[in-house]
Amino acid sequence: VPELVDVEIVRRNLQRWMRGARIVAVTAADRYILRPASPATFRHRLVGRTVRNVGRRGKWLRIELDAGLGLFSHLGMTGDWLTCKTDAEPDPHEHARLELSRHGATTTVRYVDPRRFGRLVASGEDIEEWTRLGRDPLTEGLDAPWLASSLASMRRSVKEVLMDQTVLAGIGNIVATEALWRARIDPRSRSDALGPADAQSLVRALQATIQNEIRHKGEGEGRLRIYGRAGQPCPRCTRALTRITLGGRTTALCTHCQVRRR
Ligand SMILES: [Zn+2]
Repeated sequence: VPELVDVEIVRRNLQRWMRGARIVAVTAADRYILRPASPATFRHRLVGRTVRNVGRRGKWLRIELDAGLGLFSHLGMTGDWLTCKTDAEPDPHEHARLELSRHGATTTVRYVDPRRFGRLVASGEDIEEWTRLGRDPLTEGLDAPWLASSLASMRRSVKEVLMDQTVLAGIGNIVATEALWRARIDPRSRSDALGPADAQSLVRALQATIQNEIRHKGEGEGRLRIYGRAGQPCPRCTRALTRITLGGRTTALCTHCQVRRR
């Protein structure tokens, strides 16, 4: 599942491929991914537009076009944007293809998504899924007093709050699990039981985890300390890691060195 860092890498690619280019042709047919627009409306809105910039907030991408239009893209569980040759055969999981022209050169990008949980929305105003997103840890940064007051205002487990996209945009299961281990906080702790010192440790742990993700991208799961390692020794205290389910998601934790706040 793409998290913050994966989506940021896609943003950088799209920026390189598309910025300053004009969209000359669009192929898209999947009504579910394009909802609520019809494929015809989607294509009509995009053809002839020029790409100004590619932005990101959390796991949403916003390809900014002229005429005040935005192409919003969420990668769902398995979505990705790739380049291909203009005459390339469609990929079996390809759901959109944009042909672009820049200084006489043609580039083709395509959106592939085997499981089809992603979204593509062309809109003249920012969509609600974008405007309701919380703070992006990479572009807007994190600070402890802000995190402390966000945690204090909610009565859920700290892990669910960290993964709530309206609080922090882009934090997924991997980053939340790893950061709570680094901060020595039990993910089941109620968020309003955490104090200012906990918020400070969490900010440091989130930053360290995200930086580690950026450094080790593409190296598989070897970069992770506890995610997916239930039953194996805790890298800090060597006791066996436990697996629990919280808010419908599996999480690993060390019940010895991650302390539950009450
Ligand atoms: Zn431990």
